[in-house]
Amino acid sequence: MLNGASDCIFCKIVAGEIPCAKVYESDTVLAFEDINPIAPVHVLVVPKRHVVQADECTEADREMLGDMMLAAGEVACIKGITESGYRLVVNNGREGGQVVHHMHLHVLGGRQMRGMG
Ligand code: 5GP
Ligand code: ZN
Repeated sequence: MLNGASDCIFCKIVAGEIPCAKVYESDTVLAFEDINPIAPVHVLVVPKRHVVQADECTEADREMLGDMMLAAGEVACIKGITESGYRLVVNNGREGGQVVHHMHLHVLGGRQMRGMG
């Protein structure tokens, strides 16, 4: 693998070594269907560069971070959930509930989300 962590499942998806159902792609990010969706729309937006979590990002990631949010909006348009609404979630670390340690943004929609409390 040219770029990323060799044991990282999302790096393997970005590299095309593991298949995914692609929804959107830019130079810096890839969006694909979550394999175990918790909502009718559940898409993951993943930076192509391996970065574990938000606090690991640096000034060099500014464009990529912007692209993640723009990609999330594109995904919402593609999935037709802009009117009904949607939730964007980034889990970070153990207490954040992060399971895959390659940063990613969940685009969730198609049903009423519960409150944050
Ligand atoms: P986390 O809990 O780390 O924020 O979310 C990880 C997400 O990645 C989960 O929603 C899980 O279903 C998804 N996931 C894990 N492995 C794969 C995979 O191989 N392919 C896809 N498409 N999604 C995956
Ligand atoms: Zn990775």
